[in-house]
Amino acid sequence: MKLFDVYPLNDIEIVKALESTVWDADGTDYLDLYGGHAVISVGHTHPHTVKRLTDQLHQVGFYSNSVKISLQNQLAEKLGQVSGKTDYQLFLVNSGAEANENALKLASFYNGRKKVIAFKGAFHGRTSLAVSATDNPKIIAPVNETENVMFLPFNDIGALENAFAESGSEISSVIIEGIQGVGGIREASAAFLQTIRSLCDQHDAVFIADSVQCGYGRTGLFYSHDVAGINADIYSMAKGMGNGFPVGAISIAPKFKPWYGMLGTTFGGNHLACAVSLAVLEVIEQDNLMANAASVGDYLITELKKFDKVNEIRGRGLMIGIDLPDELASVKKNLLYKHHIFTGEAKPNVIRLLPALNLTKANADRFLEALAEELK
Ligand code: PMP
Repeated sequence: MKLFDVYPLNDIEIVKALESTVWDADGTDYLDLYGGHAVISVGHTHPHTVKRLTDQLHQVGFYSNSVKISLQNQLAEKLGQVSGKTDYQLFLVNSGAEANENALKLASFYNGRKKVIAFKGAFHGRTSLAVSATDNPKIIAPVNETENVMFLPFNDIGALENAFAESGSEISSVIIEGIQGVGGIREASAAFLQTIRSLCDQHDAVFIADSVQCGYGRTGLFYSHDVAGINADIYSMAKGMGNGFPVGAISIAPKFKPWYGMLGTTFGGNHLACAVSLAVLEVIEQDNLMANAASVGDYLITELKKFDKVNEIRGRGLMIGIDLPDELASVKKNLLYKHHIFTGEAKPNVIRLLPALNLTKANADRFLEALAEELK
């Protein structure tokens, strides 16, 4: 058997990792500003997460959700405390797509409606509902197609008001990333998020905050939607939750009432996922990593804005987009192959930085020097 060839792989294989450094098989070290796609939140192979995970594996690695798993309650409590939303309810899954899938489904159960508002440039995952709310026709199979999703321009308050004026009583939910990641690091304005909140309130629609990529402290806020000082009805999260271990979740406002079996998943909330997710929250809290993400992120953004050859620097905290003109399209490749720095990308020509929250100023300087050389 060979692999189903869907990934444009580069030829580097990572065999070892520590904090924000990764090594290939030849022993060459790379600075990881991609965080394995926004997944490494507290640094690669963090001793506390490794210990929690291995200790748990020696005790009990998996048993079904049909029995009590106190670790789930501990995680719910900790997440409520660190996020500041102590009265929310936690449902655990295994990925970002699954989190959004369940959020959209829960919203529809709640108000009995079908229509979803999503935004141009949005990415919400590759499962059926999540992909139908994703603005990329190339990844929507005929079976995923739905007339129920409306794509509105991002940050356009007027378009949103019109959509609600026209079909408010049919809209089940509005789903929005606080900062679009795949869409090129574009931040929703506070006014836009506040308008979504008030229109959802007026029309009994559900506000779903996709926090999968922008979430969990990366921006210096717990959820990047917090910038607007509002509460969403459902927050979806995944990626950094397990620092590399697959885990996702939705955090659900108190007004939603569950019934037995309403949502379900075999692996969601397993012992290992809960143990490592607890460890991640403990590290974020103990090491004050949201403050670090804010300060190292501010430093990077300020310094990046001094480069005159870039089109625009966007983002917040350690979620940063460097929008480059077409003639500089080779910069990303050079950063990897010449300077040994992993970054992410977004179309048309945006470099995405999504490093661990404990990125150091020295890491940031190594990147700034390399970029300065490329932009000379
Ligand atoms: N939502 C957002 C904002 C994402 O960036 C992603 C992944 N890129 C997803 C959802 C889907 O997450 P997963 O790949 O874990 O299914």
